[in-house]
Amino acid sequence: MKPFGPIPSGFDSIDGQLSIGGMTAEALVDQAGDTPLFVYSKELIGSRMADLRRAMPERLSIHYAIKANPYSDILQLMSGLVDGFDIASAGELDLALAAGQSPERISFAGPGKRDRELRAALLAGVTINCESENEAHRALAIGHVENIAPKLAIRVNPDFELRGSGMKMGGGAKPFGLDAHRVPQLAREVIASGAVWQGLHIFTGSQALDADAIIETQGNVLALAAQLTDDIGVPLPHLNMGGGFGIPYFHSDKSLDISRIGAALQGRFNTLPDGLLSTKFAIELGRYLVGETGVYLTRIVDRKESHGVTYLITDGGLHHQLAASGNFGTVVRRNYPVAIATHFVAEPTEVVNIVGCLCTPLDRLADQVSMPHADIGDLVAVFCAGAYGATASPEAFLGHGPAREILI
Ligand SMILES: *Cc1c(COP(=O)(O)O)cnc(C)c1O
Repeated sequence: MKPFGPIPSGFDSIDGQLSIGGMTAEALVDQAGDTPLFVYSKELIGSRMADLRRAMPERLSIHYAIKANPYSDILQLMSGLVDGFDIASAGELDLALAAGQSPERISFAGPGKRDRELRAALLAGVTINCESENEAHRALAIGHVENIAPKLAIRVNPDFELRGSGMKMGGGAKPFGLDAHRVPQLAREVIASGAVWQGLHIFTGSQALDADAIIETQGNVLALAAQLTDDIGVPLPHLNMGGGFGIPYFHSDKSLDISRIGAALQGRFNTLPDGLLSTKFAIELGRYLVGETGVYLTRIVDRKESHGVTYLITDGGLHHQLAASGNFGTVVRRNYPVAIATHFVAEPTEVVNIVGCLCTPLDRLADQVSMPHADIGDLVAVFCAGAYGATASPEAFLGHGPAREILI
């Protein structure tokens, strides 16, 4: 038997079934039309945002990194809840604008921006976080042709990283951002060119669960921003401090203590160096805002034994939930939180392997988990499915087609 991750709080049961927003899993599938299905909860997203606002300094803006979940109904909801969207492609720009987010609140990071993406961003009036000198020069040239002053920030590749983060995106050689020591020169050039100087973006990693690591990194980010600002020679307008707030996916993962992070940040805001006194600060979060608020529901289509192992074979799989299968940036496969949704409160009685319907041994949803007895027709719920699910999985692989999505 193997453990699985903690089922996030906020999920209820009705008549023994998992329920979300007052509807049972079966009723949700009825409403959406079929399985597999991602269900996202408005109520859980709202309370997550409210808790975060309460914990963080008032001065801090909260941005949503829309790559975590760009489902249109989520973007519309988030548009009203956060202070800005962070995008990483022209496709995401279209999604952000379609969701009603105003261009002044959108910033565009990501390596390899093509000229047409830079032009689209510039014409829309969003901030471009330049990932290299070359990219800044191309943006300035496009601005010149279009006769528009581009809004430019510089993404910094810092010399430190977020300790314990799942995906490291700063420290040492990276395709992201400009090595810190080269930032002041480019910033002075951008300012001298007449572009709108928007400031700095320092992102150091993702999926950290240790509040002390985040507090330490935020201190490093502020110190680096202050030093670069001194070198640049003008007060810093904006600082995107990155994010990295993680969620518990696996057994023994603990929720992040955001109140400690907020208090530490407030302390630092109280003692800012001169160059940062009037700076607007933001953090950018993806999975922390939506990850625990979504569930992937998939129906059992077969139940079989092989060499003494019971397999529950579902109509879902890694083509929608790559991360839960263990194939999205993890070294050792561990079980996401999982349950039999149609017997949500029943006691476990057997150990099973829950797999998807793809013809590959990689398609595992839960290994050797202890569950109540489930039969063909029962629903399986995989939790922590609100981020990096549908759009971070190889949906076309093996031709089963996309999952449905609803926000309830
Ligand atoms: C992916 C990404 C995020 C969001 O990461 P989460 O772990 O989902 O919070 C934020 N900022 C940048 C620059 C990113 O690339």
